[in-house]
Amino acid sequence: MEKWLNSWSVGLNAQLSDFERLNEAGFRGIEVLAEQGKAADYLVYAHRTGFNLGLHLPFHDLNLATPDPVVYERTFSILTDWIKRLADYGGTHATFHGGYAWFSEEKQECLERVAERILRLDEVAKPCGVDLLLENLIPDHLNYCHQVASNLNEWLELIHNTQVKACLDTGHLNLMGHELEDTINRLGTSLGAMHLSENDGKADLHLLPGDGNHFTKDAGEYLTSHQFAGPVIYEINPYKYSLQQIIDHQSNTKSVLT
Ligand SMILES: [Zn+2]
Repeated sequence: MEKWLNSWSVGLNAQLSDFERLNEAGFRGIEVLAEQGKAADYLVYAHRTGFNLGLHLPFHDLNLATPDPVVYERTFSILTDWIKRLADYGGTHATFHGGYAWFSEEKQECLERVAERILRLDEVAKPCGVDLLLENLIPDHLNYCHQVASNLNEWLELIHNTQVKACLDTGHLNLMGHELEDTINRLGTSLGAMHLSENDGKADLHLLPGDGNHFTKDAGEYLTSHQFAGPVIYEINPYKYSLQQIIDHQSNTKSVLT
């Protein structure tokens, strides 16, 4: 198990020296958030610093579940470009969102579309040596749109049907209302990475472990009992914490992975 950081946490204007500080603090990998303006620079900085590399594929304007064929082709093309760019730096995983149905009534057709599209994207990722990781998302409690995947069974089914792996976001799981240990058990060997943060059980605050409702308290133990060897990626709110606070947390006893 390796300690990583998502580049969202370094903010929009980090420098090479910030990546060097993270490396000295014991982080072993960086998952670059492709939507950041300096994402391409961050790949270079992280690579130069000797980090292992992954990518969080863009999603805000790129709904993988869209019923619009033009939007989908644009989405596919951008995701493909990023996967290839990651492979050029020897990166190993690409976390992605399954998109959303415009209306919950269309959930079933939407899930079928998403499964086909994941399989097509995996045809790009596999030859690049990149594992696709489907992330669990926060349900729309209005039941208006439907986020894919924001229901535990549908998430497990999509992973099973497409044979991609999972990125388990602990903050999102807390808001989905599921137990961490049970979810890790159910994912089994499909667990590819963890996005680690806490919240108050109401909003996705991306707090450092220990600063929320202690949902991640025993995460290290659960992962160890599964001999999990993948990345545990801190995904911490850069609008609440400075990089120094994130670094300092690593030597704090509240850290679940020390
Ligand atoms: Zn996440």
